[in-house]
Amino acid sequence: MYTEHKMLIVDDLDIDRDILREIFENDFDILEAVNGKEGIDFIKKYGKDISIVLLDIHMPIASGIDVLKFRQTNPVFSSIPVVVITINDDTKSQMETFQLGATDFITKPFVEEMIRYRIHNVLSTRQIEEVVRERENLRVKAELDLMTGIYNKVTIEHMISKLLATNTTICAMLIIDIDDFKQINDVHGHLMGDQVIRTVADLISRYFRKTDIVGRIGGDEFIVFMSGLPSMDLARQKASDFSELFKYTPDITAPANVSISIGMAISEPCPCSYETLFKQADEALYNAKRNGKAQYAEYGMKKQLIPVQSGIRASLLLSTCRDVRSAISKVNENTRLLTIFSTHEAQYFKKEFTGKVSLLYIDISTRSDDGEELLTEMLDIDWLQHIPFVAICQEGNMGQYATAIRCGTVDIFPAPIDTVFAKRRLAELS
Ligand code: GH3
Ligand code: MG
Repeated sequence: MYTEHKMLIVDDLDIDRDILREIFENDFDILEAVNGKEGIDFIKKYGKDISIVLLDIHMPIASGIDVLKFRQTNPVFSSIPVVVITINDDTKSQMETFQLGATDFITKPFVEEMIRYRIHNVLSTRQIEEVVRERENLRVKAELDLMTGIYNKVTIEHMISKLLATNTTICAMLIIDIDDFKQINDVHGHLMGDQVIRTVADLISRYFRKTDIVGRIGGDEFIVFMSGLPSMDLARQKASDFSELFKYTPDITAPANVSISIGMAISEPCPCSYETLFKQADEALYNAKRNGKAQYAEYGMKKQLIPVQSGIRASLLLSTCRDVRSAISKVNENTRLLTIFSTHEAQYFKKEFTGKVSLLYIDISTRSDDGEELLTEMLDIDWLQHIPFVAICQEGNMGQYATAIRCGTVDIFPAPIDTVFAKRRLAELS
């Protein structure tokens, strides 16, 4: 029945061991110890390979009580059932061994059928417990993101949806996304990328309350959901403080200069759907990204531009391509970079930045045409006229190169952008 398992019999009496061996030798691989010390040595040697221990109490050198005390300190041994051998009316020993964690006991003189049943029951119970434990482990694993140990996407959607369906408090959803994470992977390798993901997850878990729901919803994206908030301002404060944390505590991030952007949506004290709130927070995140990253933005709020000090110079990038945006933000790291996705968004920066933008980057690389329409549309915008521009063209696309030159580009950056090359060209330009 259990032939692949070991049974350890610890008993100083040869006759007892002989009887027990005879009963179980067809079912188990039998190990025999003549005192507690030898028994412990077997446990140390075979560990989990031992399925069950039959343990006499009164033995020389080390007694059964000593063995049970050792078992309490040893995690592997603690998980192995121990059936104590006692004499029929020794209630005191039986009680003491139960208190020390013995699983069951059998009495002398041995009655074969009775012993068989007891051992069978102990092992069956143990097997059921193991199945239950395994199922519980699987359940926990299914709920968590294995890399970070916080909730995964499925769990988080489920938990937040449930809370929002009957919501009567102020709630806030934050989507947190690491800035330029692809570059961290590219420059430092995926292992460092993974480490950064874990660090950010850890910071989020520690920064927000235990009652807030924290999870990872994808590559470098996380969600924090706060409910029962006393005011909307508290949510704003927490989001803002958390994004600042990254700016001013470089030693908590690895590698240095990791920043995050946060999009936040706040819900009134009334039921709402996960999808709605997520969409709003995602839109806010998009605004935080295009407004220069390393900041938080709230859904429905007008973007709050950081006031421009006099003398500050900025560059303006028009691009719908994430890779281009992240390359240019690296190339342009010494000046303020304003990012827009379409030409009409240029109006947004007009008031604050007229006269302060010294370079335009216009990305025509994702266009299927030669880019002339986009270039002229951009260059016709009143407050951008006469500002030098760099055209970002699809590598090797001669039509785009020619158009860019015709429209007066000061340089061409082929996409995908080589940031080292682009930095050098930029230095030459200025
Ligand atoms: P942005 O500032 O606009 O967010 O730019 P980004 O470079 O961070 O762009 P995005 O958020 O789209 O990049 C996510 C990248 O994360 C894409 C993928 O290569 C990487 N990624 C996804 N999952 C993992 C992961 O488990 N480990 C690592 N190391 N990288 C991952
Ligand atoms: Mg990112």
